[in-house]
Amino acid sequence: MTFEKFSQYFEKLDATTKRLELIDILSKLFKESKSGEVGNICYLIQGRVAPFFEPIEIGMAEKMVAEAIGKSYGKSKEDVLKLYRKKGNMGLAAQELSNKKHGTLRLRSGQARDTKLSVNEVFAKLLEIAKFAGEGTVEKKVSTLANILTKLDPTSVKHVVNIPLGTLRLGIGDPTVMDALSLAKTGKKDLRPVIEDAYNKTSDLGYVAETFWAKGEKGLENVHLVVGKPVRPALAERLPSAEEVIKRVGNEFAAEPKFDGFRVQVHLNREGFLGPVIARNSKNDEAILEDRSPRGVYTEFVERARGDKELSQVKIFSRNLENMTHSFPDLAEGVLKEVKAKSAILEGEAIAYNPLTSEFLPFQETTKRRRKYKIEEKAKELPLVMFAFDVLFLDGKDITQKPYSERRKLLEKILPAGRQISSSQTIRLAEEKILTNSKQILEFFNESISEGLEGIMIKKLDSPYKAGGRGFHWIKFKRAQSGELSDTVDCVLLGIYAGKGKRTEFGVGGLLVGVYDKKKDEFVTISRVGTGLTDEEFRKVNEIGKKLKLGKKPARVNSKVEPSYWVEPKVVLEIYADEITRSPMYTAGWDPDTGSGFALRFPRLVKFREEDKRPEDATTVQEIEKMYKLQYKKK
Ligand code: AMP
Repeated sequence: MTFEKFSQYFEKLDATTKRLELIDILSKLFKESKSGEVGNICYLIQGRVAPFFEPIEIGMAEKMVAEAIGKSYGKSKEDVLKLYRKKGNMGLAAQELSNKKHGTLRLRSGQARDTKLSVNEVFAKLLEIAKFAGEGTVEKKVSTLANILTKLDPTSVKHVVNIPLGTLRLGIGDPTVMDALSLAKTGKKDLRPVIEDAYNKTSDLGYVAETFWAKGEKGLENVHLVVGKPVRPALAERLPSAEEVIKRVGNEFAAEPKFDGFRVQVHLNREGFLGPVIARNSKNDEAILEDRSPRGVYTEFVERARGDKELSQVKIFSRNLENMTHSFPDLAEGVLKEVKAKSAILEGEAIAYNPLTSEFLPFQETTKRRRKYKIEEKAKELPLVMFAFDVLFLDGKDITQKPYSERRKLLEKILPAGRQISSSQTIRLAEEKILTNSKQILEFFNESISEGLEGIMIKKLDSPYKAGGRGFHWIKFKRAQSGELSDTVDCVLLGIYAGKGKRTEFGVGGLLVGVYDKKKDEFVTISRVGTGLTDEEFRKVNEIGKKLKLGKKPARVNSKVEPSYWVEPKVVLEIYADEITRSPMYTAGWDPDTGSGFALRFPRLVKFREEDKRPEDATTVQEIEKMYKLQYKKK
């Protein structure tokens, strides 16, 4: 497919916010593409040249892109920036210049007017830009982008420049893409669960799309876990009482402490991972800092032969499947030294401790380790341990289908000295008790709470690992805070209300937040949050707002209220509320009979979860509905 054709689809996708239309347009786009192209198209519509978990960023700031545009159309960088400020969007500025120059420049540079770059050619060039490193990087990036632009039509140019800037905001979610793939291939959406299953195992939509396109449903059955590609994590359910737990899990089950740190998924491959690895020494930290891309993410490509050889055998992913290896060198080293396996995927919770007293630290301290610079310094100040609680892949085999009890035995085998903990051990086995009744659940729960933990996790002994799903194989029992709701709600920031009075200073008076409707793959509103934020947090929201501000309601947002301005749904906030009620203002769980949706009463901010949850990982409407019912059961 030519990029010109592809960009016409971009235009159509950009013009709608309705999910069904997005699916329809995408499925037409897929139908017109060949295998070998479909995967790259999946990455490009997300504004990327690799799956989201690969730290491959094209990394060009506005000035660099403006320089490339100028170079293509015979203008100075300043002229381009001026036009950009007038238009408010770099794509529109580039399109106008391309329109004006259309033809002349190509003729002058001897290029045929009908040079048509294909989708794959543009993809390959953008990937090349992402991979430039070392001396002369800026010049190489600028001239390669300029070269692409001169060979594209004005509409293509408009969309392409938004890719390196990270401002291509089509708002297409992965479930929408999966529906469209099924529709394109079979005329129905029926195969979405099969596609999703393969996606849950590899998190790589491009790879799954490519396999599906070339080999159909049969091909997807052969998609297995791959060391190096993050597995979408299994999630826990809630139940209101220990008795209800017994009903679900039977008369014998496992219980583990619920640690309050952050979830990590560790991939070990002693043969070494192919492809890029991330530099981590402190000298590089300084150098990399200056080269931060507009999204604040930096990457550095280091040949395996050029040092950091050991670390290329370990990858660490966060709860939202971001590659965090560079932030946790101490964990990576621990994995290499302590895990007795050739290859493995382990899951666990990482917690920071005080190196002087060996005491575990609260979440607020632990989370300081999720940083991208001055890493070595923080690793000394706040070293991490990982409490491993599951193993999904071992010595070349996907073991997610084995029952939990067997996986646990394997986990015990590969960690040093079973349950004995030595102070120098980084990877430790999560304590596990086999329980048989509700009295024991409550005893273990109280014991854990008194030790300062969050609660306990109950695990069904015969259940497989359910990638990407919430189910009753894992049940969380959390400490109740005050009020009736025993759990917090992870909400997505959707819009911002301007500040009045004292809050004018912060630029923010309130936050419009929503939750995720998994069935419809859309974000629905649930509350306006105006309290529980410190001055500093208000300022932070203002900063986030400035970065993510949109001129119109984003795609896949369903709302009856209008904030002062909309933002791209990206940031997840943990909200605590007294109660879930119903209100005609909000669309979460909208019931046309009563004309009302769910709402949060007295919502306040607990913490930002921008780094460990993606918007689609927010609390779902389906969970809210359960929490709504649970609060009455308890009374
Ligand atoms: P929540 O985020 O409240 O839904 O709880 C689920 C999270 O608890 C998981 O994603 C883990 O990060 C964390 N967790 C802590 N301890 C455990 C454990 N023993 N087993 C599974 N998950 C745990």
